[in-house]
Amino acid sequence: MAVKDQIPMPHQDPKVRVNNFDEVAMGYTEEMALLEASRCMNCKAMPCVKSCPVSVQIPKFISLIKEKAYIEALGVIKENNSLPGVCGRVCPQEKQCQSTCIFNKAGKPIAIGRLERFVADYEASKFPEPQATEPKDASLKQYKVAVVGCGPSGITVAATLAQMGYSVTIFEALHKTGGVLRYGIPEFRLPRTILDRELDYVKKLGVNIFTNIIVGRTFKLKDLFDEGFVAVYVASGAGTPKMLGIPGENLSGVFSGNEWLTRVNLMRAFNNEYATPLPESKKTVVIGAGNTAMDCTRTALRSGSEQVSIVYRRGRTEMPARAEEIENAEEEGVKFNFLVNPAEFLGDEKGNLRAVKCEKMELGEPDASGRRRPVGTGEYFEIEADCAIVALGQNPNPLIRTTTDGLQTQPWGGIIINEETGMTSIPGVFAGGDAVTGEATVISAMGAGKVAAKGIDAYIKENVIK
Ligand code: FAD
Ligand code: SF4
Repeated sequence: MAVKDQIPMPHQDPKVRVNNFDEVAMGYTEEMALLEASRCMNCKAMPCVKSCPVSVQIPKFISLIKEKAYIEALGVIKENNSLPGVCGRVCPQEKQCQSTCIFNKAGKPIAIGRLERFVADYEASKFPEPQATEPKDASLKQYKVAVVGCGPSGITVAATLAQMGYSVTIFEALHKTGGVLRYGIPEFRLPRTILDRELDYVKKLGVNIFTNIIVGRTFKLKDLFDEGFVAVYVASGAGTPKMLGIPGENLSGVFSGNEWLTRVNLMRAFNNEYATPLPESKKTVVIGAGNTAMDCTRTALRSGSEQVSIVYRRGRTEMPARAEEIENAEEEGVKFNFLVNPAEFLGDEKGNLRAVKCEKMELGEPDASGRRRPVGTGEYFEIEADCAIVALGQNPNPLIRTTTDGLQTQPWGGIIINEETGMTSIPGVFAGGDAVTGEATVISAMGAGKVAAKGIDAYIKENVIK
């Protein structure tokens, strides 16, 4: 049967889902996946593959879905992507693989992410344990590679090198693995069972993971070479929040998006039985319009806030968050204030936040980013609030660069690398992901891990194996 339109994804009802942390998007059934896969034209030029940062062989895996060979389809994805269940859920496909699908010209692109998620979930429903492949070259096992940080970039480099045959160890600062996938992205977008299963897959490939190790503090990066590691990959992400620098930022009730989400996701702050609950808030204002901002608004609703609004200094079309997440937030009742800039956080006599003072903006001439610059109008108003969350993005944490002699970095903290190999200014030390680019996307961090895995393999073969 020829199907013209994209098969929609079933979602939890917005009125129900704001009261729970269960996954919002419910996934394709087998019938839906087969119908959606049947639309794919198996294009010879493969534009979708070219716009996937890790080059997943998209037409090949979709053809296998058409034949109901779902496990084989997952195998094709895993050749290039060790986190298919994660990427099928959180990648901005509309800006990547799906943006070049030929169906954009007539109707909607193939729902590549939903199909990727379908095969990952299919495997999980059939096999309690993830299926891992044997390393390609067992003789490489004697060469040890260290990875700093267990987010998507570190996981990707580790999985890729382990598949080649290397002995890989990840050192993670937090007590849990996954990076932003665990402490940032909420469970209603990415259930932890999915993340845990994909991390189990990486462990099954032979990767060792140690938590509670802060490289730069527990030991220095260069100490790893004394311990017999022949190469190091730094994937420490971007965990230092950007703040506004406006009056009142120290009032009680003002948070950075990173801290607030970490307290909810990692430290279960929405549950009073845990040691670090957040103060109860009823009126939340979130500043920013990226993925972090959307996650904060929707988590605030689920944590008991009755009114949640976004304050964004540009317009709707400039919002950087995934289109699907903006729609989800709107459906759940988040209010959007466009062309509005916070000027001051206002407190009561006890030092608690009571309102956010904002200035109305209008769009002027385009700035360096090509987007029209928001310009203040001089007109101010207040939004009542007992919680304000500043979600304007993150820069890399300074710890590694300040404790590693000879590591060259950008003025804003990003580690400088050779784009082709991922190597830093120190021979044998590689880096990638948000630690290099500043906050970007899961798949770009994974793409950087792929590039560096090749670079590390070449480096070891040229400099260590003689
Ligand atoms: P991270 O995921 O940040 O992982 C770095 C890890 O290194 C962390 O676990 C950290 O604890 C550890 N670490 C740091 N310093 C040290 C040290 N000194 N020693 C040892 N370990 C250390 N992208 C998308 O594509 N889709 C989305 O929907 C999306 N939503 C997002 C929502 C939020 C709230 C946030 C904050 C980001 C979101 N992003 C999204 C961006 C995406 O999550 C990141 O670009 C991606 O996680 C970067 O991966 P990474 O491995 O470079 O770093
Ligand atoms: Fe299929 Fe679209 Fe890729 Fe063509 S571009 S192979 S239709 S997913």
